[in-house]
Amino acid sequence: MTKPLAGKVAIVTGSSRGIGREVALELARQGARVAVNYRQGAEAAAEVVAEIAACGSEAIAVGADVATAAGAHSLVEAALAAYGTVDVLVSNAGITRDNLLLRMTEEDWDAVLDTNLKGAFHCVKAVQRTFLKRRAGRIIAIGSIVGLAGNAGQANYAAAKAGLVGLMRSVARELGSRGITANVVAPGFIDTEMTRALPPEAMDQALARIPLGRLGTPGDVAGLVAFLAGDAAAYITGQVFGVDGGLTL
Ligand code: NDP
Repeated sequence: MTKPLAGKVAIVTGSSRGIGREVALELARQGARVAVNYRQGAEAAAEVVAEIAACGSEAIAVGADVATAAGAHSLVEAALAAYGTVDVLVSNAGITRDNLLLRMTEEDWDAVLDTNLKGAFHCVKAVQRTFLKRRAGRIIAIGSIVGLAGNAGQANYAAAKAGLVGLMRSVARELGSRGITANVVAPGFIDTEMTRALPPEAMDQALARIPLGRLGTPGDVAGLVAFLAGDAAAYITGQVFGVDGGLTL
């Protein structure tokens, strides 16, 4: 049986670990060739590439800081050099620098906005020409429920994630006539290094508010991303999909 993403080429930013890693693996399991991006974790990215090879697909690891235009450009160029085209961009790279507003520095603000929001802008710009030429392309940004509800101690992160919704909806409007879709997947609490850094009491409080009674797994997010990358999602654009175990009900 043909795999749903056979023949597709995907770039997944920040895919050396966490959600991005699982997204890269799932896209590959479904037949895509993948550019696995990281900023510092070269070894971890190489492991993802090896795992993808083991599941019968192909991948390259590309070290690039997507917070810079040059980094995003070099990432897209590496994918094009390896595979000749790009069909799917998953903008996933993200960081946190949590603090109450009173203590949040301008550096904390800039670092989070530069990676989480400007990083997506840079990547969309870098891949846009390829998508326009082909009159096709899928852009999936990993946002957060925090971008919709806000969160005390995360003003920078929430602003960046809310910004992604505006960015993706604008891209959906601007590029829809060229067959390009843009959507946001907004996870709740997913078990990764990012959430393991939270204080245990914050985690307990979050767990108590999740109707499904558990944290999400990276796989819970990856399945939806793969669906949005596939042909069955051709008519879905400008949407925000929560993957939060019911937390925001
Ligand atoms: P992790 O901290 O586990 O992984 C982050 C990944 O992003 C790493 O691969 C890291 O690479 C990469 N990265 C960070 N900065 C850059 C950069 N400037 N350029 C390229 N790569 C970079 O995070 P998660 O997997 O938990 O989160 C992934 C996404 O999901 C983020 O956008 C996050 O905001 C979002 N999200 C996560 C939730 C959660 O509960 N975990 C909930 C809601 C949203 P390296 O190690 O090389 O730095």
